[in-house]
Amino acid sequence: MKFDVPFIRPVFPHPEEVSRDLQDIIEANWFTNFGPKEREFVRGIEAYLGDGLHAVTFSNATLALMAAIKVLLPAGVNERFVLVPSFTFAAGPAAIEWADYRPLFIDVESETLQPSLASARAALATYGRRISGILLCNTFGIGNPSIGEWELLAQENDLPLIIDSAAGFGSLYASGAKVGQAGLCEIFSFHATKPFAIGEGGAVVCHDAEVAIRLKAFTNFGFTAGQGATSLGLNAKLQEINAAIGLRQLTNFDEALEQRRKTLRRMREAISGDTYRFPDGLEQSSVCFASTLLPDRETRDLVLGRLREHSIEARSYYSPAVHTQPHFADAARADSLVNTSVALGKVLSIPIHQSMAEASFQAIVNVLNYEV
Ligand SMILES: *Cc1c(COP(=O)(O)O)cnc(C)c1O
Repeated sequence: MKFDVPFIRPVFPHPEEVSRDLQDIIEANWFTNFGPKEREFVRGIEAYLGDGLHAVTFSNATLALMAAIKVLLPAGVNERFVLVPSFTFAAGPAAIEWADYRPLFIDVESETLQPSLASARAALATYGRRISGILLCNTFGIGNPSIGEWELLAQENDLPLIIDSAAGFGSLYASGAKVGQAGLCEIFSFHATKPFAIGEGGAVVCHDAEVAIRLKAFTNFGFTAGQGATSLGLNAKLQEINAAIGLRQLTNFDEALEQRRKTLRRMREAISGDTYRFPDGLEQSSVCFASTLLPDRETRDLVLGRLREHSIEARSYYSPAVHTQPHFADAARADSLVNTSVALGKVLSIPIHQSMAEASFQAIVNVLNYEV
């Protein structure tokens, strides 16, 4: 079904610019394998995020998640559980399994929809040393308001903290620090559906140069120069053409972010009443879309249906919860995950585009205000 207002509409560089980049790539005869565009893109990501971070690019964020888990978690003899929220995209729990660990699902906070510290503590009390690490998810790319407490919890329990910030390139934590600065590393996706879109692509950013070297080797068959494979790797390299698109996107990314944030602010001002509650930190995020919590399932289904009737593509993220998806149905759970189930009955995800047509904006507001 085609909607007048699609859920996602990325703004890509002009075809003439991409065509010039392609010409460069053909002239250089360098299409992938850390060519000049990829190396410049790495420097661009590091400069954008600042403060001594190292970036490693990937062909997508799912492989980046796998690499981070494989490189940073101890290859111990325990049951290798990794704490992960069920309220996330399935790529994280899948990456845990591909890296030879097992997901142990935790709940979310009912208001922020961010992973629940209480649920993690319950899991730690029950599973103890059987847990190998934590894969936190910055829900919807929003910086976790309790990130400091998560870092402390990880430290106290001597567990690596990896953060899936897939949609959060450009987001800020409550402290004002850029998302990318926390944990042992953070993972970004540059998929076409994310605010920073290059087609397929992703990155891991971390503070430790030696970790970055190991992550980069992972993307390149585990090779070390002159020795062949010195660790288990695979092919997860970013192509030159996608890196070139990334470089173009970086040049006006702050403006693009401001456009998204402004549209969100205007929408919140235009919505009347208190039917729609927005999670903390959304306004300082990259605003991939705007997820709101409605009072109950009935109202949510009604509004979702009416948006669709008006050819506006809204969703309910992250639905269905990962622990209810058939492949993960038997995976371990910290508790009943009740907040996750309740939230999924109330959440409504509204499109926010970088350049949203005024008519689309008004059409959404009118439905949300029951004016049509
Ligand atoms: C999009 C997304 C991913 C997957 O990213 P890809 O680049 O498509 O592999 C993983 N986790 C979360 C939370 C996401 O939103």
